[in-house]
Amino acid sequence: MNGFSNDDFDFSFLEEGFCARDIVEQKINEVSLSDDKDAFYVADLGDIVKKHLRWFKALPRVAPFYAVKCNDSKAVVKTLSILGAGFDCASKTEIQLVQSIGVSPERIIYANPCKQVSQIKYAASCGVEKMTFDSEVELMKVARNHPNAKLVLRIATDDSKAVCRLSVKFGATLKTSRVLLERAKELNVDIIGVSFHVGSGCTDPQTYVQAVSDARCVFDMGAELGFNMYLLDIGGGFPGSEDVKLKFEEITSVINPALDKYFPTDSAVKIIAEPGRYYVASAFTLAVNIIAKKVMVNEQSGSDDEEDAANDKTLMYYVNDGVYGSFNCILFDHAHVKPVLTKKPKPDEKFYSSSIWGPTCDGLDRIVERFELPELQVGDWMLYENMGAYTVAASSTFNGFQRPTLHYVMSRPHWQLMQDIKEHGILPEVPEVSALHVSCARESGMELTPTVCTAASINV
Ligand SMILES: *Cc1c(COP(=O)(O)O)cnc(C)c1O
Repeated sequence: MNGFSNDDFDFSFLEEGFCARDIVEQKINEVSLSDDKDAFYVADLGDIVKKHLRWFKALPRVAPFYAVKCNDSKAVVKTLSILGAGFDCASKTEIQLVQSIGVSPERIIYANPCKQVSQIKYAASCGVEKMTFDSEVELMKVARNHPNAKLVLRIATDDSKAVCRLSVKFGATLKTSRVLLERAKELNVDIIGVSFHVGSGCTDPQTYVQAVSDARCVFDMGAELGFNMYLLDIGGGFPGSEDVKLKFEEITSVINPALDKYFPTDSAVKIIAEPGRYYVASAFTLAVNIIAKKVMVNEQSGSDDEEDAANDKTLMYYVNDGVYGSFNCILFDHAHVKPVLTKKPKPDEKFYSSSIWGPTCDGLDRIVERFELPELQVGDWMLYENMGAYTVAASSTFNGFQRPTLHYVMSRPHWQLMQDIKEHGILPEVPEVSALHVSCARESGMELTPTVCTAASINV
């Protein structure tokens, strides 16, 4: 297997009939008798393979360039590179990471409209030519430091309905776009296309339609000025899990007709996107352990009945990862997370209003403000699903709390599928994703044995 000659690609194969969630349970069982109950992740690389197939089914005309900032774990980047994805890098370090695993410069877009000069020079030195811009100063920087650059003009979108707005910081208006195109002509800089980003966590697919139509205007302006523009970059903003109001396919079913209308196939425009969250969110499950607990008795209850008094308590749980770690997504990504319990509550079990806190000494470090939970004990585990996007990438070790360990897994059918895609690309006869679904041992009540997870270190 050529192309990736660097480090090993470390993950464990899932044995037949087992899924990533079984590995979570297995890891929990392994440490059950020890004091060492550090938070950890289990990441299913097969989920990324599934997402890749789903992408091409929903957006057959659009080549994905994964946004590395969303989760820069090497195993993620490696999986996507084997699948043939391109990469959206925003810095020298991200370019180095992607190139270190053998990705060629044509598969990289340096999609940061505001770059440090030394990093523009770095991109030039390693052959990365596609880069975005949205201002005249950036045009001049690029003209001087990277004369071969192929520039992509980032336009602003109406991202007022997105969870994380980006157009407050980046993107030229249509009026400015004309000025920039004229200036680029004077500077003899090549403009090859247009990009936009509707905002991360987009809740209105019409935003894409408007942006695609605006991009068409800019293509027309470019043609008037004599540019040969051939790249449309529709950015990111696609959901990465199913717990969202607007499903991925609901968005893409609105995007496709807009692409066909404004950029028909015979226009020979190559269309790319920069999905981040889409690829990684659902692949990662985080397990945290309860390290401390406080019981607060509600003193206003006024009842002498012991049972009633018990109902009137609220609980505070302290767990070993928080907003300075993986849950930085609560602050930076406006995430709302909810715990999943590893033990099913009994049918008659009482639930109490509970809050969940991270391990640091900061009062800001709160994960869940209020959630109804059965009474849990120190040493119990909680899981958080869909934790792959904007979590590990921005976590700190503030207050001396270490980042959770990452355990990567993949089923053999997904590994095989990944190899097939690597060899032949995505073929129309690729089996339906659901046909590959490996049944979950946990759900089917199978015994877990240590052989569930055979360690594999594969050199691709
Ligand atoms: C963050 C970012 C992305 C990825 O956005 P998602 O919403 O995670 O898909 C793509 N492109 C650019 C330029 C970005 O800044």
